[in-house]
Amino acid sequence: MAHCARCGKKQSIFSSRASGYCGECEGVVKAEVAEQKEKQAKEERLRHEEDVRQKLERLKTGVRQQLEKGGRAYLYETRFIPVDSIEDSVPLSNAFAITHLQAMGLSGWEIVGVVPRTSARTLQNKDLGSGLFTYAGGIGGTVDGVYILLKKEIPADWEKNEQSRREVGQLLAAQAVMPV
Ligand SMILES: [Zn+2]
Repeated sequence: MAHCARCGKKQSIFSSRASGYCGECEGVVKAEVAEQKEKQAKEERLRHEEDVRQKLERLKTGVRQQLEKGGRAYLYETRFIPVDSIEDSVPLSNAFAITHLQAMGLSGWEIVGVVPRTSARTLQNKDLGSGLFTYAGGIGGTVDGVYILLKKEIPADWEKNEQSRREVGQLLAAQAVMPV
């Protein structure tokens, strides 16, 4: 007769448990395994958080040292702005709106690059006899918007300035979680 592998209690001859545990112990063991898995996952998460924290500190130290020895450091950002190009007499957007850029300019951001985004589409003809569509050609190269690349110099006293500290902090935090 089989005995439970955990408590040694005799098992019913009708028992066909693959685990080798009695009903009671099977429940206990399952709970222990689940708890163990959860504990490992938590440790893994904490280890990862600690790695990210250390990497963030290294990045901050890097910027700090760079500026302390008189070097320069910059922030970069990008914004997409729709362009009111005309297609079949219809503008693609209402206006070329730069209100947001103007606000960024006031807080020290400078435009250093513009990349036009173009769109393309195929044109179709409907055959009146068969009702089928045939491709008639296409149009491309319509500028439907621009990506604006902006730059802002990180001031030497960025750690004392709340806005700079937040801007640099956010950028470094994003870098710290990026896989190497
Ligand atoms: Zn048992």
